[in-house]
Amino acid sequence: MKVVIVGNGPGGVELAKNLSGEFEVTVIEKEELPHYSKPMLSHYIAGFLPEEKLFPYSLEWYDRRGIELRLGTSALFIDRAKRVLATSKGEFPYDVLVLATGARAAEPAVPGKEHLLTLRTLDDARRIKEKLEEEGEIVILGGGFIALELAGNVAKAGYRVKLVHRKRNLLGLDEELSERIRKELEGIGVEFHLETNVLSASENGLNTDRGYIPGRLKVCAFGIAPNVELALRSGIQTGKGILIDDSFRTSAEGIYAIGDCAEYNGMILGTARAAAEQARVLASILKGESASYDFFGSTVFKFADLSLAIIGRTDGEGKWLDDETRVFYRGDKPVGAVVFGDLRKALRLEKEIREALN
Ligand code: FAD
Repeated sequence: MKVVIVGNGPGGVELAKNLSGEFEVTVIEKEELPHYSKPMLSHYIAGFLPEEKLFPYSLEWYDRRGIELRLGTSALFIDRAKRVLATSKGEFPYDVLVLATGARAAEPAVPGKEHLLTLRTLDDARRIKEKLEEEGEIVILGGGFIALELAGNVAKAGYRVKLVHRKRNLLGLDEELSERIRKELEGIGVEFHLETNVLSASENGLNTDRGYIPGRLKVCAFGIAPNVELALRSGIQTGKGILIDDSFRTSAEGIYAIGDCAEYNGMILGTARAAAEQARVLASILKGESASYDFFGSTVFKFADLSLAIIGRTDGEGKWLDDETRVFYRGDKPVGAVVFGDLRKALRLEKEIREALN
């Protein structure tokens, strides 16, 4: 059986790895590079990691596994009747097609946006790193995990960091948890400008509703835009992402979607961990094994030296079990948790919560 995968991010590469040997697997990727780690990009920007360490799999690795990797190849259109994927470098027939096209960084919509950079690809990271080394400081827009990871790593490396966020809360967490994260990051030098709206950007800084913030290097890290265009152009149903059912099936027969491009029940999980887990479950489904995925958001982050796990639903009051662990409930049932520090404890708790929900 021929499986063609569009996208060589964590979703695509994990799926290829799990199907290789049993299926004929082709990966179509528009970038010229083999798979690299996006979660490590801010470590690379900060100078903690040389560029070559971003690549977990060499080109020989793909060869050894019998995975045909087509780099520098853009998927353009799916002829669903003929089961053929048209690309910038020819046509690829498939029995099963998997869209793992990921997302791009959400674009800012303020006047002067050409003075703002975004962070998604290694090219973006190279550009930011070069400018950071020239300027010695950075202004980061956003209060999600990409913004905080970048702020934490770059501050730890000794650069001056200002973080501008329109809300008071970080990571969508409540005030108490946000405050704790803020204090940890302030401890290593991150300067916070919260509840601050950017009105416009210029070469030398930002105009905000709380005054002018100088800074020549400004990076937007606030959200993602799923890459749905290929699906849309090919008549596959989309919402914010490509719409899927609980077995990753799109509205088109023989075509599946996983990772940052895929939307299930209004949710796009948006993490490398979820993309790789979805890939493993889809691989089992395609092999005819019984497998299911429970679309339960859970991720571990590292903001400089602060490790943090956010598991499941974290809205509502919650109860501190100890200094490091707050659990959230619906009735008596635990539905989510936030764990600082001990990540083994976080994994145990995640298992308990998943079991309680099933
Ligand atoms: P992507 O990684 O976006 O890969 C999609 C691939 O498809 C891309 O290579 C793209 O070039 C290719 N593609 C798209 N359209 C086409 C086309 N038409 N033709 C051919 N190729 C195409 N997640 C975590 O879990 N933990 C973290 O700590 C973390 N930190 C992050 C830090 C940064 C700076 C960034 C940017 C992301 C971070 N993430 C983290 C998020 C994580 O990287 C994403 O959730 C993950 O990469 C999604 O994987 P994916 O395979 O769905 O898509």
